[in-house]
Amino acid sequence: MKFKVLGSGAGIPSRTRNTQSFVLDVVEEINQYFLIDASEALQHRILDTTIRPSKIRHIFITHLHGDHIFGLPGFLSSRAHQGGEGIPLVVHGPKGLEEWVEATFRTSSSHLNYPIQFNEVGHGDAFDVEGFTVTVRLLDHAIDSFLYVFEEPDKPGALKSEKLRDIGIRPGPVYKEIKSSDTFEHEGIIYETADFLNAPSDGRKIAVHGDTRVIRDKEYLALLDGADLIVHEATYLHGEQEKAHLYFHSEIDDVLMNLSQISYCQLLFSHISNRYDAEMVQQVEGQLAENIRIAHDFLEITIPRDSR
Ligand SMILES: [Zn+2]
Ligand SMILES: [Zn+2]
Repeated sequence: MKFKVLGSGAGIPSRTRNTQSFVLDVVEEINQYFLIDASEALQHRILDTTIRPSKIRHIFITHLHGDHIFGLPGFLSSRAHQGGEGIPLVVHGPKGLEEWVEATFRTSSSHLNYPIQFNEVGHGDAFDVEGFTVTVRLLDHAIDSFLYVFEEPDKPGALKSEKLRDIGIRPGPVYKEIKSSDTFEHEGIIYETADFLNAPSDGRKIAVHGDTRVIRDKEYLALLDGADLIVHEATYLHGEQEKAHLYFHSEIDDVLMNLSQISYCQLLFSHISNRYDAEMVQQVEGQLAENIRIAHDFLEITIPRDSR
Protein backbone atom coordinates (compact mmCIF):
# COMPACT_ATOMS: atom_id res chain seq x y z
CA MET A 1 0.00 0.00 0.00
CA LYS A 2 1.30 3.41 -0.98
CA PHE A 3 0.19 7.00 -0.71
CA LYS A 4 0.94 9.16 -3.75
CA VAL A 5 0.81 12.93 -3.89
CA LEU A 6 -0.38 14.34 -7.21
CA GLY A 7 -0.96 17.84 -5.89
CA SER A 8 0.49 19.28 -2.70
CA GLY A 9 -0.35 22.97 -2.99
CA ALA A 10 -2.97 25.21 -1.41
CA GLY A 11 -5.48 27.44 -3.20
CA ILE A 12 -3.60 28.43 -6.34
CA PRO A 13 -1.22 26.16 -8.23
CA SER A 14 2.45 27.11 -8.53
CA ARG A 15 4.97 25.91 -11.09
CA THR A 16 5.97 23.05 -8.85
CA ARG A 17 2.78 22.35 -6.93
CA ASN A 18 -0.57 21.32 -8.32
CA THR A 19 -3.48 21.89 -5.96
CA GLN A 20 -4.74 18.98 -3.86
CA SER A 21 -4.99 15.49 -5.36
CA PHE A 22 -3.89 12.25 -3.73
CA VAL A 23 -3.95 8.58 -4.60
CA LEU A 24 -4.12 5.73 -2.12
CA ASP A 25 -2.50 2.91 -4.07
CA VAL A 26 -4.18 -0.34 -3.06
CA VAL A 27 -3.15 -2.22 -6.20
CA GLU A 28 -1.36 -4.90 -4.22
CA GLU A 29 -4.42 -5.41 -2.03
CA ILE A 30 -7.39 -5.03 -4.41
CA ASN A 31 -5.89 -3.98 -7.77
CA GLN A 32 -7.35 -0.46 -7.53
CA TYR A 33 -6.45 3.14 -6.76
CA PHE A 34 -8.55 5.35 -4.50
CA LEU A 35 -8.41 8.94 -5.73
CA ILE A 36 -8.81 11.61 -3.07
CA ASP A 37 -9.68 15.06 -4.46
CA ALA A 38 -9.37 15.97 -8.12
CA SER A 39 -7.59 19.23 -8.75
CA GLU A 40 -6.95 21.04 -12.00
CA ALA A 41 -3.76 19.38 -13.30
CA LEU A 42 -4.82 15.91 -12.13
CA GLN A 43 -4.89 14.44 -15.63
CA HIS A 44 -1.40 15.70 -16.42
CA ARG A 45 -0.04 14.45 -13.14
CA ILE A 46 -1.53 11.00 -13.79
CA LEU A 47 0.14 10.92 -17.23
CA ASP A 48 3.48 11.21 -15.43
CA THR A 49 2.76 8.11 -13.34
CA THR A 50 1.90 4.48 -14.08
CA ILE A 51 -1.63 4.94 -12.71
CA ARG A 52 -4.31 3.68 -15.08
CA PRO A 53 -7.53 5.73 -14.83
CA SER A 54 -9.58 2.57 -15.41
CA LYS A 55 -8.24 1.25 -12.11
CA ILE A 56 -9.75 4.21 -10.29
CA ARG A 57 -13.22 3.03 -9.29
CA HIS A 58 -13.74 5.21 -6.25
CA ILE A 59 -13.12 8.94 -5.88
CA PHE A 60 -13.39 10.68 -2.52
CA ILE A 61 -13.91 14.44 -2.57
CA THR A 62 -13.16 16.22 0.71
CA HIS A 63 -15.00 19.46 -0.10
CA LEU A 64 -16.28 21.59 -2.93
CA HIS A 65 -13.66 24.35 -3.06
CA GLY A 66 -12.31 24.71 -6.59
CA ASP A 67 -8.73 23.75 -5.71
CA HIS A 68 -10.06 20.27 -4.82
CA ILE A 69 -12.56 19.60 -7.62
CA PHE A 70 -11.77 21.61 -10.75
CA GLY A 71 -10.04 18.61 -12.32
CA LEU A 72 -12.94 16.23 -11.76
CA PRO A 73 -15.06 16.75 -14.91
CA GLY A 74 -11.98 16.53 -17.14
CA PHE A 75 -10.78 13.38 -15.43
CA LEU A 76 -14.22 11.74 -15.68
CA SER A 77 -14.43 12.58 -19.40
CA SER A 78 -10.95 11.35 -20.24
CA ARG A 79 -11.34 8.16 -18.23
CA ALA A 80 -13.95 7.08 -20.76
CA HIS A 81 -11.26 7.09 -23.46
CA GLN A 82 -8.47 5.69 -21.32
CA GLY A 83 -9.71 2.15 -20.88
CA GLY A 84 -12.58 3.08 -18.56
CA GLU A 85 -15.40 2.12 -20.91
CA GLY A 86 -18.01 0.06 -19.07
CA ILE A 87 -16.05 0.13 -15.80
CA PRO A 88 -18.24 1.62 -13.07
CA LEU A 89 -17.12 4.50 -10.87
CA VAL A 90 -18.42 5.81 -7.55
CA VAL A 91 -17.80 9.40 -6.50
CA HIS A 92 -18.09 9.92 -2.75
CA GLY A 93 -18.44 13.54 -1.70
CA PRO A 94 -20.46 16.31 -0.10
CA LYS A 95 -23.96 17.41 -1.04
CA GLY A 96 -23.93 19.51 -4.19
CA LEU A 97 -21.17 17.58 -5.96
CA GLU A 98 -23.50 15.54 -8.15
CA GLU A 99 -25.47 18.63 -9.14
CA TRP A 100 -22.27 20.47 -10.12
CA VAL A 101 -20.88 17.58 -12.18
CA GLU A 102 -24.22 17.07 -13.93
CA ALA A 103 -24.54 20.78 -14.78
CA THR A 104 -20.97 20.80 -16.13
CA PHE A 105 -21.63 17.74 -18.30
CA ARG A 106 -24.96 19.10 -19.51
CA THR A 107 -23.55 22.51 -20.51
CA SER A 108 -20.50 21.03 -22.19
CA SER A 109 -22.44 18.19 -23.90
CA SER A 110 -20.13 15.62 -22.33
CA HIS A 111 -21.19 12.01 -22.08
CA LEU A 112 -19.74 9.06 -20.25
CA ASN A 113 -19.61 5.49 -21.53
CA TYR A 114 -19.48 3.94 -18.06
CA PRO A 115 -21.91 3.94 -15.12
CA ILE A 116 -21.27 6.62 -12.50
CA GLN A 117 -22.83 6.76 -9.08
CA PHE A 118 -22.67 9.52 -6.48
CA ASN A 119 -22.52 8.74 -2.79
CA GLU A 120 -23.40 11.82 -0.76
CA VAL A 121 -21.39 11.68 2.46
CA GLY A 122 -22.09 13.27 5.84
CA HIS A 123 -20.59 13.51 9.30
CA GLY A 124 -20.43 10.16 11.08
CA ASP A 125 -20.99 8.01 7.99
CA ALA A 126 -19.14 4.70 7.88
CA PHE A 127 -19.43 2.46 4.85
CA ASP A 128 -17.71 -0.38 3.09
CA VAL A 129 -15.61 0.28 0.00
CA GLU A 130 -14.13 -2.86 -1.56
CA GLY A 131 -13.59 -4.38 1.89
CA PHE A 132 -12.19 -1.19 3.45
CA THR A 133 -14.23 0.62 6.08
CA VAL A 134 -14.41 4.31 5.29
CA THR A 135 -15.39 6.66 8.12
CA VAL A 136 -16.33 10.25 7.40
CA ARG A 137 -15.98 13.16 9.82
CA LEU A 138 -16.88 16.79 9.40
CA LEU A 139 -13.93 19.15 9.82
CA ASP A 140 -13.88 22.88 10.55
CA HIS A 141 -13.65 24.88 7.32
CA ALA A 142 -15.50 27.74 5.61
CA ILE A 143 -17.74 25.16 3.89
CA ASP A 144 -18.41 21.52 4.77
CA SER A 145 -15.08 19.72 4.51
CA PHE A 146 -14.51 16.11 5.45
CA LEU A 147 -11.90 13.75 6.84
CA TYR A 148 -11.83 10.26 5.32
CA VAL A 149 -10.45 7.42 7.41
CA PHE A 150 -9.70 4.26 5.45
CA GLU A 151 -9.40 1.07 7.48
CA GLU A 152 -8.17 -2.14 5.94
CA PRO A 153 -9.53 -5.41 7.35
CA ASP A 154 -7.17 -7.44 9.56
CA LYS A 155 -5.35 -10.18 7.70
CA PRO A 156 -5.71 -13.63 9.30
CA GLY A 157 -2.44 -15.31 10.23
CA ALA A 158 -1.00 -18.09 8.08
CA LEU A 159 -1.37 -21.75 9.08
CA LYS A 160 1.45 -23.22 11.13
CA SER A 161 2.16 -26.10 8.78
CA GLU A 162 4.81 -27.63 11.01
CA LYS A 163 2.38 -27.90 13.89
CA LEU A 164 -0.14 -29.57 11.57
CA ARG A 165 2.51 -32.03 10.39
CA ASP A 166 3.29 -32.83 14.02
CA ILE A 167 -0.24 -34.18 14.46
CA GLY A 168 0.01 -36.03 11.17
CA ILE A 169 -1.71 -33.74 8.68
CA ARG A 170 0.32 -33.30 5.50
CA PRO A 171 0.07 -30.20 3.29
CA GLY A 172 -2.67 -30.35 0.67
CA PRO A 173 -6.13 -29.05 -0.12
CA VAL A 174 -7.15 -29.95 3.44
CA TYR A 175 -5.15 -26.95 4.68
CA LYS A 176 -7.58 -24.64 2.93
CA GLU A 177 -10.51 -26.43 4.54
CA ILE A 178 -8.92 -26.16 7.98
CA LYS A 179 -8.27 -22.46 7.54
CA SER A 180 -11.84 -21.73 6.57
CA SER A 181 -13.41 -23.32 9.66
CA ASP A 182 -13.14 -22.65 13.40
CA THR A 183 -12.47 -26.29 14.33
CA PHE A 184 -11.36 -29.43 12.51
CA GLU A 185 -11.28 -33.14 13.23
CA HIS A 186 -8.34 -35.47 12.78
CA GLU A 187 -8.25 -39.11 13.88
CA GLY A 188 -11.20 -38.63 16.17
CA ILE A 189 -9.84 -35.52 17.89
CA ILE A 190 -11.38 -32.07 17.50
CA TYR A 191 -8.86 -29.23 17.22
CA GLU A 192 -9.32 -25.46 17.41
CA THR A 193 -8.04 -23.87 14.18
CA ALA A 194 -6.88 -20.80 16.11
CA ASP A 195 -4.22 -22.95 17.83
CA PHE A 196 -2.70 -23.61 14.41
CA LEU A 197 -2.61 -20.04 13.15
CA ASN A 198 0.05 -17.38 13.39
CA ALA A 199 -1.04 -14.04 14.85
CA PRO A 200 -3.22 -11.99 12.48
CA SER A 201 -1.72 -8.77 11.14
CA ASP A 202 -3.61 -5.57 11.82
CA GLY A 203 -5.26 -3.81 8.92
CA ARG A 204 -3.77 -0.42 8.16
CA LYS A 205 -5.49 2.89 8.92
CA ILE A 206 -5.01 5.95 6.75
CA ALA A 207 -6.62 9.30 7.59
CA VAL A 208 -6.81 11.99 4.91
CA HIS A 209 -8.03 15.47 5.80
CA GLY A 210 -9.77 18.06 3.71
CA ASP A 211 -9.01 21.70 4.50
CA THR A 212 -9.57 22.46 8.14
CA ARG A 213 -8.74 24.40 11.25
CA VAL A 214 -7.09 22.38 14.00
CA ILE A 215 -9.72 20.25 15.75
CA ARG A 216 -9.15 19.53 19.39
CA ASP A 217 -12.03 17.35 20.50
CA LYS A 218 -11.43 13.91 21.97
CA GLU A 219 -13.69 11.94 19.64
CA TYR A 220 -11.77 13.29 16.62
CA LEU A 221 -8.39 12.45 18.15
CA ALA A 222 -9.60 8.96 19.04
CA LEU A 223 -10.55 8.40 15.40
CA LEU A 224 -6.99 9.23 14.31
CA ASP A 225 -5.25 7.38 17.12
CA GLY A 226 -3.07 4.49 15.94
CA ALA A 227 -3.17 5.53 12.28
CA ASP A 228 -0.45 4.23 10.00
CA LEU A 229 -0.57 7.49 8.07
CA ILE A 230 -2.24 10.82 8.77
CA VAL A 231 -2.39 13.41 6.00
CA HIS A 232 -3.15 16.89 7.33
CA GLU A 233 -3.11 20.30 5.76
CA ALA A 234 -0.50 22.89 6.75
CA THR A 235 -1.37 25.93 4.67
CA TYR A 236 0.74 27.92 7.15
CA LEU A 237 4.26 26.67 7.79
CA HIS A 238 5.59 29.42 9.94
CA GLY A 239 3.67 30.97 12.82
CA GLU A 240 0.54 32.93 11.92
CA GLN A 241 -1.72 30.62 13.90
CA GLU A 242 -4.33 33.34 14.31
CA LYS A 243 -4.35 34.01 10.59
CA ALA A 244 -4.68 30.29 9.89
CA HIS A 245 -7.69 30.14 12.20
CA LEU A 246 -9.24 33.23 10.62
CA TYR A 247 -9.02 31.69 7.14
CA PHE A 248 -10.21 28.24 8.28
CA HIS A 249 -6.82 26.60 7.78
CA SER A 250 -4.05 25.12 9.95
CA GLU A 251 -0.56 26.07 11.02
CA ILE A 252 2.01 23.29 11.25
CA ASP A 253 3.14 23.68 14.88
CA ASP A 254 -0.44 23.88 16.06
CA VAL A 255 -1.22 20.57 14.28
CA LEU A 256 1.91 18.93 15.69
CA MET A 257 1.00 20.02 19.21
CA ASN A 258 -2.55 18.73 18.80
CA LEU A 259 -1.51 15.36 17.37
CA SER A 260 1.15 14.86 20.04
CA GLN A 261 -1.70 13.57 22.22
CA ILE A 262 -2.13 10.46 20.09
CA SER A 263 0.08 7.85 18.49
CA TYR A 264 0.60 7.43 14.76
CA CYS A 265 3.27 5.99 12.46
CA GLN A 266 3.65 8.60 9.77
CA LEU A 267 2.36 12.14 9.35
CA LEU A 268 2.32 13.99 6.06
CA PHE A 269 1.66 17.71 5.73
CA SER A 270 0.24 18.95 2.46
CA HIS A 271 -1.84 21.87 1.05
CA ILE A 272 1.28 24.05 1.27
CA SER A 273 0.85 27.72 0.43
CA ASN A 274 2.77 28.89 -2.64
CA ARG A 275 4.18 31.74 -0.54
CA TYR A 276 6.86 29.36 0.71
CA ASP A 277 9.83 28.65 -1.53
CA ALA A 278 11.67 25.32 -1.64
CA GLU A 279 14.37 26.55 0.70
CA MET A 280 11.86 27.54 3.37
CA VAL A 281 10.02 24.21 3.06
CA GLN A 282 13.32 22.35 3.38
CA GLN A 283 14.22 24.35 6.44
CA VAL A 284 10.91 23.54 8.15
CA GLU A 285 11.12 19.86 7.16
CA GLY A 286 14.64 19.65 8.54
CA GLN A 287 13.29 20.36 12.00
CA LEU A 288 10.66 17.62 11.91
CA ALA A 289 10.96 14.10 13.29
CA GLU A 290 11.87 11.38 10.78
CA ASN A 291 8.32 10.05 10.46
CA ILE A 292 6.90 13.48 9.62
CA ARG A 293 7.16 14.85 6.08
CA ILE A 294 6.09 17.81 4.02
CA ALA A 295 4.54 16.78 0.72
CA HIS A 296 5.75 17.68 -2.73
CA ASP A 297 4.13 16.65 -5.99
CA PHE A 298 4.94 13.03 -6.92
CA LEU A 299 6.01 12.15 -3.38
CA GLU A 300 5.30 8.48 -2.66
CA ILE A 301 5.01 7.07 0.82
CA THR A 302 5.04 3.37 1.56
CA ILE A 303 2.64 2.26 4.28
CA PRO A 304 4.02 -1.02 5.64
CA ARG A 305 1.97 -3.64 7.43
CA ASP A 306 2.30 -3.95 11.19
CA SER A 307 4.42 -0.84 11.49
CA ARG A 308 2.74 0.12 14.75
ZN1 LIG B 1 -7.88 23.90 -0.45
ZN1 LIG C 1 -10.98 24.72 1.11
